[in-house]
Amino acid sequence: MEIRAPLSIDRLISELNALAKISAADPPVVTRVVFSEADLRARAYVKGLCREAGLDVHEDAIGNTFARWQGAEPNLAPIGTGSHIDAIPNAGLYDGSVGVLGGLEAIRVLQQLGFKPRRSIELVIFTAEEPTRFGIGCLGSRMMAGVLSPSQANALRDKEGRNLEDLRREAGFNGALDSVQLSAGRFHQFVEMHIEQGPILEQEGIDIGLVTHIAAPASMRILIEGEGGHAGGRLMPGRKDALAAGAELILALESAATSTGAIDSVGTVGVCEVFPGAVNSIPSRVRLETDIRDIDAARRDRVIENLRSACEQVATRRGVSIQTEMINADPPATCDPSILHAMEQAAQGAGKSSKRMVSRAYHDSLFMARITPVAMLFIPCRGGVSHRPDEYASPVWIGSGVHVLARTLAALAS
Ligand SMILES: [Zn+2]
Repeated sequence: MEIRAPLSIDRLISELNALAKISAADPPVVTRVVFSEADLRARAYVKGLCREAGLDVHEDAIGNTFARWQGAEPNLAPIGTGSHIDAIPNAGLYDGSVGVLGGLEAIRVLQQLGFKPRRSIELVIFTAEEPTRFGIGCLGSRMMAGVLSPSQANALRDKEGRNLEDLRREAGFNGALDSVQLSAGRFHQFVEMHIEQGPILEQEGIDIGLVTHIAAPASMRILIEGEGGHAGGRLMPGRKDALAAGAELILALESAATSTGAIDSVGTVGVCEVFPGAVNSIPSRVRLETDIRDIDAARRDRVIENLRSACEQVATRRGVSIQTEMINADPPATCDPSILHAMEQAAQGAGKSSKRMVSRAYHDSLFMARITPVAMLFIPCRGGVSHRPDEYASPVWIGSGVHVLARTLAALAS
């Protein structure tokens, strides 16, 4: 498919700006928590644009939205593209939205050029990619992939104690939750466009990132129970300081992640809660929350094992009790070589530079990969900044992404 016509993205940029204004916070801050008033208005806006483009719009019981451009052979499994429009509190306007409105723009460009897809092309808007409300990321795609069961979903509550079941029905999404899971053949292939959320493309002056792997996050909670006491009265011999034990574990994780020798292994302790948290009191209880990621599941799990054995050693040596709890350990995804090849060809044909890279953040594509071949297309974002109001991708970067996405979709749907 030759896209010769000049690609004007004025329409897309003005739609991105209009979507950004649908927010629970004052512009330029974007806050759109799933099933909030802003989320529902944003959904209505995007669905309206999809209908204007002649797409058939359907929603499932959790609010995942499918907007279909019917192909010449409608019985064939469609090519999917899309992302999310929910946004964490105090976010910017490009994360997720670029993949949704940019995906729609790619479809409209193909329509305007008179392209007739053989397979249908379906834009997907995933519910709650961000974990803000229910504490679990990629809610919609997890359920599509069957990774989160309807009963597990039913048990989810927000901070106010309201359950998912009531909130989704209030938002107008009825139907049985067990109808959300998709069969493995429901999509033929899936491509997600997204801002990089890292600095590499901008630093190297490259237009398009071709994502070969999506790193797999794992999260382990560590609870340390020692003995408190007066910081002056209790002498050093025989102390059971829970925070001193925790400090050893923080360093043990750093060393476990570093010692794999692989640049893709990362380990972080992002939460350290100390009880009672007084300057003159020996810490008696500490909670650590760890985030451990890699593109290689076995290597990541070895880091987790090393951390676990450090827990045992520290507990014995310091006489404290240490309990660990795995919160989640999702497998990483490897992107599909044939989609990567199509994207590479598309970039070349569009005269755009590209490079293969790893996604260190996770996305709905991580879960879509369980049921369909996926790949992701990254565009640069300024300074690698994301999840902040000053998140920025230039119209030129977005235009390049849409151009390459349109060519990719055309090739995959032919
Ligand atoms: Zn995102």
